[in-house]
Amino acid sequence: MLAIENLTKVYSGNPPVAALTDVNLKIGEGMFGLLGPNGAGKSTLMKILAGLLEPTAGRVTIDGADLADPVQRAAHYERLGYLPQDFGFYGHLSGQKMLEFLLELKGVTGPKGRRSLAMELLHRVNLAHAATRKVREYSGGMRQRLGIAQAIAGDPRLVIVDEPTAGLDPEERMRFYRLLSELSVGRIILLSTHIVEDVATLCPRFAVIRKGSVVALTTPKDARDRIAGKIYEGVVSHEHLAAISRDYHVTQAMVFDGTNQVRIFLEEGEPPAGFSSSPATLEDAYLVSTRFTANASEMPVAGGVA
Ligand code: ADP
Repeated sequence: MLAIENLTKVYSGNPPVAALTDVNLKIGEGMFGLLGPNGAGKSTLMKILAGLLEPTAGRVTIDGADLADPVQRAAHYERLGYLPQDFGFYGHLSGQKMLEFLLELKGVTGPKGRRSLAMELLHRVNLAHAATRKVREYSGGMRQRLGIAQAIAGDPRLVIVDEPTAGLDPEERMRFYRLLSELSVGRIILLSTHIVEDVATLCPRFAVIRKGSVVALTTPKDARDRIAGKIYEGVVSHEHLAAISRDYHVTQAMVFDGTNQVRIFLEEGEPPAGFSSSPATLEDAYLVSTRFTANASEMPVAGGVA
């Protein structure tokens, strides 16, 4: 279990930036999503967990081992896999050579040597067929899978993946989802993302983070149930859209075939004329939690343990 207790991070500067404020999370095995808009503090949290940043206050333990303790910390890093947001590759190297190099940096080798481990990992992430191709010829999805291959080397207990699906096409994204869910058996995978679909597809539990605070800890179903019956959809004219946006909480406004299709969140009262009730989506739930709720105490923080 990964336990994050009262974690706070303030970047010094003028003015200082409070990137995380009193974050508490308990995360068990499987996929856990950390969802939030850009600037919410996701990367800061990932970097603290990966040991690249010191927290200003608070505590992180994994299976009871405290990250602040130098000895326990060293053991933690041996059992950690990390795929950062902007992972650097040497394009002129083959996938296999690149991976061997990364394994060397990580200090991981296999019983039959590093080369054999690299091949094994390439098989695991479905890249064996491209082992000898240069990384610069890899698609975005292939690069991310190569990144995952280095992250899971050494069979880590905790794998941290920061915004891995940004820029992937739908097919690559689905492949990547499949790979992550296969790998989540028996270990903790923490997936940071601003893409709601990532969480809807992959994560039995997730937290929503906004302005450095956890504003929801829930499941996709609970998040939708929470706002069920409070989402309405209708079509409005361009002239009418500004008034609707002013008077209601709009969760989505899309121009479709020349008309504005608008979804609103309405706790009580009558919806605008022509609007009818619509099943809540996770996207609606996410937007409600990040935009229309004033503070964490009003949020659907359900349960303690993920
Ligand atoms: P996210 O990953 O959710 O986009 P970040 O953790 O990158 O969010 O950023 C959280 C906040 O901290 C933002 O306001 C960002 O501008 C600020 N921030 C991030 N890194 C630094 C830094 N090195 N120095 C100062 N402020 C930073």
